[in-house]
Parts: sequence; structure tokens; C-alpha cells
Amino acid sequence: NAATPLLELRDVRIAYGGIQAVKGLNLHLNAGELVSLIGANGAGKSTTLKAICGLLAPSSGEVRYLGQAVHAQGPWELVAQGLVMVPEGRGIFARMSIDENLRMGAYLRRDGEVEADIASVYQRFPRLKERHRQLAGTLSGGEQQMLAMGRALLARPKLLLLDEPTMGLAPIIVDQIFEVVRDVHRQGVTVLLVEQNAQRALEMADRAYVLDSGELVLQGTARELLNDARVQAAYLGA
Ligand code: ATP
Repeated sequence: NAATPLLELRDVRIAYGGIQAVKGLNLHLNAGELVSLIGANGAGKSTTLKAICGLLAPSSGEVRYLGQAVHAQGPWELVAQGLVMVPEGRGIFARMSIDENLRMGAYLRRDGEVEADIASVYQRFPRLKERHRQLAGTLSGGEQQMLAMGRALLARPKLLLLDEPTMGLAPIIVDQIFEVVRDVHRQGVTVLLVEQNAQRALEMADRAYVLDSGELVLQGTARELLNDARVQAAYLGA
């Protein structure tokens, strides 16, 4: 159904013990969109992503992916349906080779196209190909981020959740990562991008949401938000 969003959060609240980290969040992504979620440290962005992919249960409200409540499904079932996250800090397997890390991304797949997809990830990231037998823990931060993204692509995402993919990386690597995100989106993957770098996140996105202390304070098209005086003052260093 074209009218059903790919992802929908309805009044989602998430608490850690007594701490309310997300306080009633409503948001949606339509298929094909690139949406950014921005906000300061501790705003609740990572918590929101974890709830979307089923790693944290909301205390109330609901997350729906492809029209189904995610809490009723295991994280692996969600991955098999194309809901794939690249976590903050990348989560690569340091003591496994690059090649083995990539294959982990495909472990739920039963189709015959895994080898072709690995070849295409290597084509996208020649640095990973050159080093495919090297232990992932020996890679630089930027290479590890590329590996984490390559591994996510091997799960054939429909919706890719990216948690601060450029954090701590050199500017030239940041450019490359954003270029990959743009390219993956162009190829038809819906993307939810969490970023501290609000300027870049808004330049990339169709729409964006701004979180502050667990609440949605602004939302709109990326263009509207880039031109919004409040966003400029609080997030764009204007
Ligand atoms: P960051 O950029 O620092 O990752 P964020 O916007 O992703 O920020 P969250 O990590 O989602 O924010 O944190 C939201 C709130 O929940 C913060 O107040 C944080 O201290 C708290 N919090 C996060 N994880 C936990 C946890 N495991 N236990 C208790 N409180 C937590």
C-alpha cells in the first residue's frame, strides 16, 4: 500500500529505569526517503534507533515497520525483512577478517547472490578488497566505518539506520562516507541518518526531525530546517 509509511513511530516513549530518554515521539519515513534525525548529545537519537530495530522495547507507543509492530518480531526477523542498522561505534568483529565481517552481514540470506553482492561491496570500497584477509580490528576508523556499511549492505537493506557514521573521522573520510550514503539512497534504499553534523545531515536529507531532551522540537523539509533561524542558532553555529 503506497499510503502506508515504511516506518512509523506513534507516541513512542522509552525509559532506562526511571530516566525518560524518549518522551512521546511521532515520526515516519516513506519508502525512498532520506530522513535525518539531529539533536545534541543525549537528545535520545541512539535510543530511538535501538527501539526502531527492536533492540529496546518502548515503555509505551508503537514502532511499525512495513505495517507490522516491531516489538512482536525478533531483531533477526527485522533484519531478514530489510531493517538494518549500522550502530554507533560500528560494531565490527575486530578479530575476524574483513571478508568474514562482510559475510556476517549476509548470514540470514538464502539466495544465491551473496558472492555477487560481496564483489559489488569490494568494488565500492577498494581499500577493503585490497585487505580482505586482514583482521578488521587493524583497520583505521574510516575503514571500519566502511566495513560496517558494507556489512549492512550485504543484508540487502530496505531501510538503513545509520547512527553517527562520521563521528570521529577525518574530513576527507567524512566526505567519502556521505558520498556512500547518498549513493546507497540513490539506488533505492530508504535511509534514516542520525548525525551530530547537522549541516551535512540537512544538506543530504529530504526531510529531518530535531530531537531535544527526548522530544521532537522541529520537523520539516531539509530546506525549511536549513533556513530556520532556531535551527541555525542551535545546531548550525550561526
Ligand atoms: P549521543 O550523541 O550521545 O549518542 P543521543 O541523542 O543518541 O546522544 P541517547 O544515547 O539516546 O542520546 O541518550 C538519551 C538519554 O538516555 C541520555 O540522557 C542518556 O544519558 C540516557 N541513556 C542512554 N543510554 C542509557 C543507558 N543504557 N542507561 C541509562 N541511561 C541511558
